[in-house]
Amino acid sequence: MLWRKKKKRVLGIGLDGMPHSLFLRLAEDGHIPNLKRLADANHLKRMNSVYPTVSSVAWSSFSSGTNPGGHGIYGFVDRTPGTYDIFIPTASNKVSDCVWDHLGRAHKRSVVINIPVTYPPKDINGVLIAGFLCTNIDKVTTTSRLIPKLKEMGYVIDVDAYKAQKEKSALMDELFNAVRRRGEAARYLMETEDWDFFFCHFMETDRLYHFFWDEYASSDPTFGPKFYEFHRALDEEVGKLVEMAGDGVELIILSDHGFCRIKKEVQLNKWLQDEGYMTLRPDFDPKKQLNNIDPQDTRAFSLIPGRIFLNLEGREPGGTVAPGDEAKALLQEIAARAKELKDPDTGEPIIDKVFYRDEIYSGPAVDRAADLIVHPYDGYDIKGTIKADSLTRREHLEGMHTYDDALLLTTQEMDLGPRNDISGIMGHILAMLGAS
Ligand SMILES: [Zn+2]
Repeated sequence: MLWRKKKKRVLGIGLDGMPHSLFLRLAEDGHIPNLKRLADANHLKRMNSVYPTVSSVAWSSFSSGTNPGGHGIYGFVDRTPGTYDIFIPTASNKVSDCVWDHLGRAHKRSVVINIPVTYPPKDINGVLIAGFLCTNIDKVTTTSRLIPKLKEMGYVIDVDAYKAQKEKSALMDELFNAVRRRGEAARYLMETEDWDFFFCHFMETDRLYHFFWDEYASSDPTFGPKFYEFHRALDEEVGKLVEMAGDGVELIILSDHGFCRIKKEVQLNKWLQDEGYMTLRPDFDPKKQLNNIDPQDTRAFSLIPGRIFLNLEGREPGGTVAPGDEAKALLQEIAARAKELKDPDTGEPIIDKVFYRDEIYSGPAVDRAADLIVHPYDGYDIKGTIKADSLTRREHLEGMHTYDDALLLTTQEMDLGPRNDISGIMGHILAMLGAS
């Protein structure tokens, strides 16, 4: 088909959470030969993620080309405005268009597979198979003709990561299976659908790093080799997709953040309670989550990871902090004290950066952002448990996200703007396809 060769096309591949630094090591040691060949022949660089460094937020910034203030996704959980209730944001909570919406208006067809926060799936010009947060394959796409085919292929939306707590080898098997099935489904769609923009996302790297980083770091005799084998399987799937897309396709292979080993989990609400900023009601009920706070005796509370909200008069239902000078002074005080927070065992500082929301966010959803965003040093994974026994602990998670070690491998060199972050990619995709 000659017309296909002539038309400009873009193939994107998401490797969730794969660190640029790990990519270099794996390439050097021969574990990812296809990706290494692509990196050698094209442009590979280190890229920044977003604050807070969460997949839902980073992929929303990728797909909508804005900072979180522009798309409205600030984390895996968020609070319902005007209440202390929390909810899980989905694609319905995004306030901006995605790259495939812009392309659709320019009569370009997209095939989008497994990108986080695409559930519930929308009708697009093309095919959208939702990712993470979709738990039912019957609801994974509005292109219903594809559902029997996906089922027949044994397609996996996301692995059951909580298996890791019970049965690590079963989780490892599932990760391999999910990658193979995703690759197979992607090749089927690449062959049977017409497309200008094709994106296949692999979530499984993120799961691998969360649950197997210790085994990788310690060269565990069982899971150490499996960690490399997994990357070889992934590399094969990437290689097949790139080959099938053919010469002349523009490539964008990326991760949305990096990863490192967790030293400690840090309970920020415990810290706020210890510092006298937050008080819980005596009749604590875990199901009530943030509604356990005693509003009259609370000036600030936190949502995972590192999002601190003031209990503001006129905004929170039991607000105690007056907007204006009082709020500003309190934010400055909390920011300064957060930067002094130390690991109680080692004395190491925990918080690397503290941002006021207007410093890092802009756009229509900025008023839904936290008032302060604290970002830790690598190794300190900030959590949001309402009632915790201790400030720090180590649980079953082994790896955590990092901000400045995402990767970007492209056929065309890409300037991502002053932040060098993931939100700078969308404009290039639209430009490459003549849709900007
Ligand atoms: Zn991620």
